[in-house]
Amino acid sequence: MSAAGASHTKSIAVNGRSYRWPARPLVVVCVDGCEPDYVNQAIAAGSAPWMASLNGRGTCLTADCVVPSFTNPNNLSIVTGAPPSVHGICGNYFFDPDTRAEVMMNDPKYLRAGTILAAFADAGARVTVITAKDKLRALLGHRLKGVCFSSERADQVTLADNGIADVLSLAGMPLPSVYSAALSEFVFAAGCALLERDRPDIMYLSTTDYVQHKHAPGTPDANAFYAMMSRYLGQLDALGATVALTADHGMNAKTDAAGRAQIVYLQDWFDADLGAGRARVILPITDPYVVHHGSLGSFATCYLPPGADVAAICARLAAVPGIETVLPRAAAAARFELPPDRLGDVVVISERLTVLGTTPSRHDLSGLDAPLRSHGGVSEQKVPLVFNRPLQGVSATRRLRNFDIFDLALNHCE
Ligand SMILES: [Zn+2]
Repeated sequence: MSAAGASHTKSIAVNGRSYRWPARPLVVVCVDGCEPDYVNQAIAAGSAPWMASLNGRGTCLTADCVVPSFTNPNNLSIVTGAPPSVHGICGNYFFDPDTRAEVMMNDPKYLRAGTILAAFADAGARVTVITAKDKLRALLGHRLKGVCFSSERADQVTLADNGIADVLSLAGMPLPSVYSAALSEFVFAAGCALLERDRPDIMYLSTTDYVQHKHAPGTPDANAFYAMMSRYLGQLDALGATVALTADHGMNAKTDAAGRAQIVYLQDWFDADLGAGRARVILPITDPYVVHHGSLGSFATCYLPPGADVAAICARLAAVPGIETVLPRAAAAARFELPPDRLGDVVVISERLTVLGTTPSRHDLSGLDAPLRSHGGVSEQKVPLVFNRPLQGVSATRRLRNFDIFDLALNHCE
């Protein structure tokens, strides 16, 4: 038995759930935008031999992510083991009722729950977090006594701020461009090197969906990305880690048969329905990295003027082609486990092939060099949940979530 043997009976409680101390290093990987078919197609093409090798010795399940199927709400759900109604992060961007301003939600002051990562570190575990985009670093690393850095700012890490220095030579890669597959590869290269050198108890690796926004499952660029990932995951496996993989959300083409983006411009719709400027449309996909998606996703929330007839507006909007679901605040918060105080009066979700915008002049689509692919809706809720070991004691009728991954990896992996 290892030196940590005495700790095996120890459990850590976080947000009402209990997690066993890792018996061996645990690497949880959140593959941004990993529609399950990416893995399936890469295996079928022979591009992902390690993933193929899990058939029979590992576990491959499908889980539901959090809606809105966006990056930050899901990454925070995974590391807290709880939905946004508990941790508070329900978008990349929101209307802050306290300051009455539209702001990014990537400041830890908006986080309402502690993370599994910080709790294990407080109990003496060595924890490492590596994220592709820097927008997630502060949230994932909140109150974490450990290593936490992004590949985006890998050239700026310091022992004082990130718990580690010189990750460029550690990864053996130059600083990647923020719009590149290499931004994600850097996460894996640094993660493998760190597992080998320091053998942390828990690692959380989070990639970026640059490739998935541009390339459909089974295309050469997508398969090349999953080939790269499969190679690194194989290394982590060979180093003796439990490898657990899920996604923050899926990804779908949001175009017609001719490849043209299908967009419902909600601000224009409200301006026509209620009068100009009377409603405020918030697109929580909005982030500083707009080249991916032009701030177009399948989830929106809208603030209505005082006295508006919410039920009648919901009914009229639900009849618009491309709209899948329109719910008043309380119903949306209950159905999707969201914090009601951070939602508008109505929540709007579009269908699989349609995205929601505000008004054409506010969406810069000039950076899109491929037909639009995006996410945010219920249509992107299915994600893979993959382990390199068998699981025990998981009921076949249990609705699995991506944020169950720490529970499954620590409490149910053989
Ligand atoms: Zn994402």
